[in-house]
Amino acid sequence: MNKMNLKIPFVDLNLQHQPIQHQLQQAIQAVLAQGDFILGKALANFETAFAAASGTEYGVGVASGTDAIALGLQACNIGAGDEVILPANTFVATLIGVLRAGAKPILVDCDPQTALIDLEAAAKVITPSTKAIIPVHLYGQMVSPRQLLDLADTYKLLIFEDAAQAHLAEREGYRAGSVGTAAAFSFYPSKNLGAFGDGGMLVTRDADVAQKMVRLRNYGASQKYFHVESGTNSRLDTLQAAVLLEKLPHLPQWNRDRLKIAQQYDLELAPLVSAGIIPMQNQSDAGHVYHLYVIKIDDTCALERQRIQDQLSALGIQTGIHYPIPCHLQPAFTNLGYQAGDFPQAEQLAKQILSLPMYPGLSHSQIQQVVTAIASTLSGEQQQLLCI
Ligand SMILES: *Cc1c(COP(=O)(O)O)cnc(C)c1O
Repeated sequence: MNKMNLKIPFVDLNLQHQPIQHQLQQAIQAVLAQGDFILGKALANFETAFAAASGTEYGVGVASGTDAIALGLQACNIGAGDEVILPANTFVATLIGVLRAGAKPILVDCDPQTALIDLEAAAKVITPSTKAIIPVHLYGQMVSPRQLLDLADTYKLLIFEDAAQAHLAEREGYRAGSVGTAAAFSFYPSKNLGAFGDGGMLVTRDADVAQKMVRLRNYGASQKYFHVESGTNSRLDTLQAAVLLEKLPHLPQWNRDRLKIAQQYDLELAPLVSAGIIPMQNQSDAGHVYHLYVIKIDDTCALERQRIQDQLSALGIQTGIHYPIPCHLQPAFTNLGYQAGDFPQAEQLAKQILSLPMYPGLSHSQIQQVVTAIASTLSGEQQQLLCI
């Protein structure tokens, strides 16, 4: 459907940018005037500010979240011969990052209530070669830091957080990015903190990891034209950093807006739970930053997910699925040796989940419209709605 016809889009970035348009333009102008497009001043400033906001020490800006994972694992000295545990139900970039670092990915299932990695399942696949675990703070909710640290302590594992969906999320007194040795963030435009293009960052408290990351993103150079290892070219553009630095002070309020929207959805959807519409569980109270608001359409529901999604679309309401195929069932990764049935919870979620519109600025009446549309679809009254 053409975006122009959408009554309620899945994401609307204009609502976020319009009120601070002038400041954003000034930030961009300042970089143009300065001319320091690569590894410039705004990048250093943003790295410091974002690492501090995430409760950690060093930030190293890179070209994408995927690079933050791939290069970040390398910076943590994880590679060939090492096994790395990650959930099967993540965006493929988590898996691609592990593969690019040269390590062996070990997938595990998830908790069907939260869609977060099942740490008991993780404990069962640990071998003498297991070096690290990647908790993915999926949908904006952190994996329990206490349980993670217990597991890592017991088995001497390195924790590498995939915080691409969890900027400033909190749980049990920890901020996303501050639990493990290092963490990867993405600034893809629609993330909670988004650039005007691609971008990512590795944050860490470990000075050695940070230094190695600084080299890896810049052709492995420890100083200009002196290369101590083989790196790559993956830097966060100064222009993007300037935009992100300008947006960062607004992020806490944007996250609060998302939480409020989620609470309104929870409330409005409560009467539909008995009809098989189940919101994913928030186990971290106000610390959940709701990158996505996800419901499950379970087996007791009278309608299939596809029908619900189609009918919402006909009413001008855009939805998404995050993600429709778990990593182990993607054609690209059949060589990992997994098959259908290996991760039943992840596979069932992939069939049941639906992400509803979620962005700062989504109004209360729009939330009601979305829920009314779902209810009318279930009761077969959508024809009436379509006619008004
Ligand atoms: C977006 C995302 C990534 C990848 O980030 P890019 O900036 O798109 O490369 C990795 N992991 C998760 C969970 C993501 O949502």
